[in-house]
Amino acid sequence: MHGDEYEGPVVIAELMRQIQPGDVQGQLILLPSFNAPALRAGLRTSPIDRLNLNRVFPGDDFGAPTQQIARYVADHLFAKANFFLDLHAGGRTLFIQPSAHVVMGDDMDPALVKANARLAEVFGVGITVQTSNMGDYRTAAGYTSMQGIPTLAAEMGMGGWVTGNSVQATRDATRRFLKHTGVLPRIATIPGVQTRWTRINGAVAYVFAPFDGYFERCFKLGDTIESGQVAGLMHQLSRPELEPEPVHFKSSGTLYAHGLVGHVRAGQNLAVLTEDVSAP
Ligand SMILES: [Zn+2]
Repeated sequence: MHGDEYEGPVVIAELMRQIQPGDVQGQLILLPSFNAPALRAGLRTSPIDRLNLNRVFPGDDFGAPTQQIARYVADHLFAKANFFLDLHAGGRTLFIQPSAHVVMGDDMDPALVKANARLAEVFGVGITVQTSNMGDYRTAAGYTSMQGIPTLAAEMGMGGWVTGNSVQATRDATRRFLKHTGVLPRIATIPGVQTRWTRINGAVAYVFAPFDGYFERCFKLGDTIESGQVAGLMHQLSRPELEPEPVHFKSSGTLYAHGLVGHVRAGQNLAVLTEDVSAP
């Protein structure tokens, strides 16, 4: 989906090499490079039209190439899907806790919520984030959820890296997911861990840069955060006479994700908090 996130493509390509037709019950559609132009360029967005594939669903037949990819996948692949697994990572600009994501809107069918929760438990990584997607159905997972297709998204790596540990975690979790769906009933799996249920509590869960500048980050992944705590200092290096300006967290929770690069633009996402919730 994003061309600077590699665990998914590595594991999907491995499955393509390993699986024999006789192993499959039904149909298994594997897309190792959903967004081939972005993958070749090593970028989050397509170098052809600069669009983010995960913000253009359901796409447009007559649109830019990225919109055409989305439209083809929506009409020809999602249209026959009983399940969807969407493997992401933090990419080159984000540090993030390895985690599963499920879309859970208030207006969703309870049977779909239950199916999504079961997928997250089977996936078996340490954290699952319930997200309303802030009402945004332009993501692939938002679109398939709206279509009533049980869907799990996951963030399995970060920083544009790919490591033995992150690939192994993705491989193990993906195999559990595929076995659970019944499409690969005999695939070997190892047990996952019990997942901790969390959510991102809307806009107050985010810290945004107040102006263009240089952010001195005063937290790390997994920290326990209190509302009002200083998140860091914004420096204006072109104005050395100015004192740095503190930036504060607007809610309490656990530090789930943060940006990597010191030079930031106004409005850029600096940190994301999650709060624990009970299992759905
Ligand atoms: Zn992604």
